[in-house]
Amino acid sequence: MPCYEFACRECGGFERIHLMAEVPAESACPTCGQPARRRIGGGTLLHGDSPAMRLLDTTARTAAEPPVVTAPPSGSRPRVTRNPLHRKLPRP
Ligand SMILES: [Zn+2]
Repeated sequence: MPCYEFACRECGGFERIHLMAEVPAESACPTCGQPARRRIGGGTLLHGDSPAMRLLDTTARTAAEPPVVTAPPSGSRPRVTRNPLHRKLPRP
């Protein structure tokens, strides 16, 4: 969802995420609660500190640096194969 900018007369600008079809002309300011008009613009899909950008950064970081796991998740049992061909595989 795109991120839209709103301008409060008292507090300045802030951003909100809305569906393109449901973006309002005014939104309540998170600081003072007064209605703030939407700034003219197309909306930003990827903003520097938006939740979407943080998700993309986290996804890229975990792809390059996966978290180190030292133990299997609790409650999980080791999978045992019943395929006889797997007995020929080298053992650790
Ligand atoms: Zn305000």
